[in-house]
Amino acid sequence: MSQGIVTAAYLIAALLFILSLAGLSRQDTAQRGNIFGIVGMALAIIATLASSQVSGGSWIITLAMAVGAAIGVRVALRVEMTEMPELVAMLHSFVGMAAVLVGFSSAIEHAPMSGAAKTIHDVEVFLGIFIGAVTFTGSIVAFGKLRGVIKSAAKGLPGGHQLNLAMIIVSLLLGAIYMSTGGVWALVLMTLIAFVFGYNLVAAIGGADMPVVVSMLNSYSGWAAAASGFMLSNELLIITGALVGSSGAILSYIMCKAMNRSFISVILGGFGAEGGTVVSDGEQGEHTEVQAEDVAEMLKAANEVIIAPGYGMAVAQAQYPVADITKKLREKGVNVRFAIHPVAGRLPGHMNVLLAEAKVPYDIVFEMDEINDDFSDADVVLVIGANDTVNPAAKEPGSPIAGMPVLEVWNAKNVVVFKRSMATGYAGVQNPLFFKENTDMLFGDAKASVDNILKAI
Ligand code: NDP
Repeated sequence: MSQGIVTAAYLIAALLFILSLAGLSRQDTAQRGNIFGIVGMALAIIATLASSQVSGGSWIITLAMAVGAAIGVRVALRVEMTEMPELVAMLHSFVGMAAVLVGFSSAIEHAPMSGAAKTIHDVEVFLGIFIGAVTFTGSIVAFGKLRGVIKSAAKGLPGGHQLNLAMIIVSLLLGAIYMSTGGVWALVLMTLIAFVFGYNLVAAIGGADMPVVVSMLNSYSGWAAAASGFMLSNELLIITGALVGSSGAILSYIMCKAMNRSFISVILGGFGAEGGTVVSDGEQGEHTEVQAEDVAEMLKAANEVIIAPGYGMAVAQAQYPVADITKKLREKGVNVRFAIHPVAGRLPGHMNVLLAEAKVPYDIVFEMDEINDDFSDADVVLVIGANDTVNPAAKEPGSPIAGMPVLEVWNAKNVVVFKRSMATGYAGVQNPLFFKENTDMLFGDAKASVDNILKAI
């Protein structure tokens, strides 16, 4: 294929990626956004394989891609919606490792260079390997924390920020040694340090702050891919990496604002550090229990109902009966609305996806800022599998989740919490909401509870 056609294909692919991102920003256009992304990526792969940059050996690439695609399809078909964040974290680690490998290959074998071209190349190699290595181990730690194999609490290496600073300085020195001597050993040492740095950066961020870590690693993986694009002189990879890097950074910024956290401290890995340890995870008083039939009566007598869904709704797959209850109550003239916390569930937009899947109308689904002042007008609030996102402990200085804005469900006349036990949420912080006078606990699997209410309405 001529270089002109390849460039044109790259241009179209880049446009499709931009359209994809634009589509993914809204629920009703997300599916179209995904299709643009798939077509763009297919075009990019075909154009790259047909370009003069791949001279011979394209069968090896095709074979590797076929094996990778088969594994990818198998994993994607088997993964539960609740495991998506772990999958995303794992995929970020692959991008990181790819950047490290491309960096080393570019350092070991490249055309003879001198002057500014050599300096630029060496800086690309250094940045590509450094960002890639940080992304690799950071994403593995994020994977472990999301899967629950590593405790979600903030626990970095001793030395904290000073250690991080020392690792950055030593890495820069090793980068300078590599640039002046060409010694690959300096890159190897720098990579090992960057691995530890990536680990420490994410290990030091805890519990409820994990959503920002995931979007931050998304951004890092984009920059790692862009750096690989520079090393491989592939414009499309540079554009795609920059799109992922900047959209991940924008998402991190939005999440930080929503969580009332400082963007800079997240990037520096000190995010969870300011939280204290004052709140105990033990019980904090007496709680009252209700049965599904009682909740059905409450709902029948209500005019205003707000539903605050959380991770437990995703685990129980309760969105379908929740949508049925909503429909039934609306037919009876009850005003039902949904309140979505920006980090409810385990993925940005997790609850929106589930509700859209169950065909809940978009116009009754509200973001936290749009609905938080309306809880005092609600006769009943159903908290379905949410915990940290409705935890009033966030209002207490010294709490590990202090400062995180939450859905102020306790202002409603009655609150019903659907969960299986008195266990804490993801952040491991006990929830004083459960012990408030206007709160009742409805124990059991959320889907079974909602099904029972549906029968009784
Ligand atoms: P939480 O994770 O705080 O709590 C979920 C609750 O659901 C648990 O207390 C659990 O209680 C209950 N539950 C689990 N399974 C079921 C079931 N089958 N039926 C009924 N209840 C169930 O949920 P939130 O959505 O409120 O908060 C999300 C948390 O996850 C936040 O801390 C957020 O920071 C973090 N996070 C979010 C990410 C994102 O991008 N959105 C990414 C990473 C982390 P019990 O076991 O007693 O049933």
